[in-house]
Amino acid sequence: MVEMATIACYDCGKRHEEEDAGYRCECGGLLEIIHKFKGVDTERLKRIFHERLSERTGPYASGVWRYKELIYPDLPEEAIVTKYEGNTGLYRSESIRLAVGMREIWLKAQSENPSGSFKDNGMTVAVSHGRALGYSRFTCASTGNTSSSLAMYAALAGCESFVLVPKEQISINKVLQTLAYGAETIGFDGTYDDGIRFYERYGRELGWYICNSINPYRIEGQKSIVYELAQSMDWRLPDWIVLPGGALSNVTALGKGLKELLALGFIERMPKIAVVQAEGASPFHAMRIEGRRELVPFERPSTIATAVNIGHPPSWKKARDLLESIGGTTCSVTDGEILEAKRLIDRSGIGCEPASAATVAGLRKLVASGTVDRDETAACILTGNLLKDTDILRHTLWEDAERRTLTTKLNIETIKGWIGL
Ligand SMILES: *Cc1c(COP(=O)(O)O)cnc(C)c1O
Repeated sequence: MVEMATIACYDCGKRHEEEDAGYRCECGGLLEIIHKFKGVDTERLKRIFHERLSERTGPYASGVWRYKELIYPDLPEEAIVTKYEGNTGLYRSESIRLAVGMREIWLKAQSENPSGSFKDNGMTVAVSHGRALGYSRFTCASTGNTSSSLAMYAALAGCESFVLVPKEQISINKVLQTLAYGAETIGFDGTYDDGIRFYERYGRELGWYICNSINPYRIEGQKSIVYELAQSMDWRLPDWIVLPGGALSNVTALGKGLKELLALGFIERMPKIAVVQAEGASPFHAMRIEGRRELVPFERPSTIATAVNIGHPPSWKKARDLLESIGGTTCSVTDGEILEAKRLIDRSGIGCEPASAATVAGLRKLVASGTVDRDETAACILTGNLLKDTDILRHTLWEDAERRTLTTKLNIETIKGWIGL
């Protein structure tokens, strides 16, 4: 039903037939997996995907591998390394809907993944692929979520992991999580972008399997975010899908996934995509509003949203072409706007890390400017968990909480005073 996929260069189109094709073509372009879907019985697959929702163990209990036929059909089942990733909640919040001022808003909480971020959707596929090729050492450069995810899957697979993490503008929680799963962790002077450049140059020489977002198997896995969203909405997606943009792997993946769903007849129309960047790390948005087609990197990206503190996003070309072909938009938000939206999301009971809150902050702006119509509907992808960045919580909440709770003697009158009894 589904034939073997091939790997091709995104820039020059050259086919890469070798099993271990690496990450870049000789021309410098990124690689991409091209599926040969022939004679796919869409209704039958929908039924299979639905039946798998009742599985509790085994690879098809995963919210990624549930869609194996559309992600990595020819991988032997026994190579799969899974922690039942995906399977995340889809929520509505009246307070958020009112604050943004739209008819309907959904929040897809990828923060509920086993390591606490959407990186698990892609990482399960990359690590499974690497293991199937016989690798036992896995690596990445990361602002923290990719490394946490990689370290978790490598440990599950009984393999080793080595990660490069910038010393500054990262969240300590993510580094601790990475260390806890047993990864060899090297802090370095520089930014995420320096780490990526290092691996693009030396990664193959080291003989390690590289799990950065340039790895085309991660992109295949991340497609499952929109597959799961579509399935849980009975294959009718909202008008907009809103997500934060850092390395731009996720927008690339969601766009590829949506195009494939449309081509195979799972969905009938293409939603629009909005990519929101933090102002201090917004080279992609800057390119679009200035009407350029070439990205000018930010040499010193800076934002409190550490997960998107990226000045030279590797997947910018794929993301650019996608937005051009399906009619998407971009916007940027300040750190202040991110924190305001984060407070709203946290207080709704859903919660997220700062980078994820950029979605709601951005949507608010896009509605205010008229790019998004109040009568439309949207789904915001919440990419990372509330507990991924407790420094931010300490800065924004702790002082106040300390005054209220820690300096008070436990006393019924004080408590009555609080609640106005
Ligand atoms: C990685 C990450 C992003 C950015 O995704 P890209 O694919 O790099 O654009 C956003 N939010 C969180 C929490 C992340 O971990």
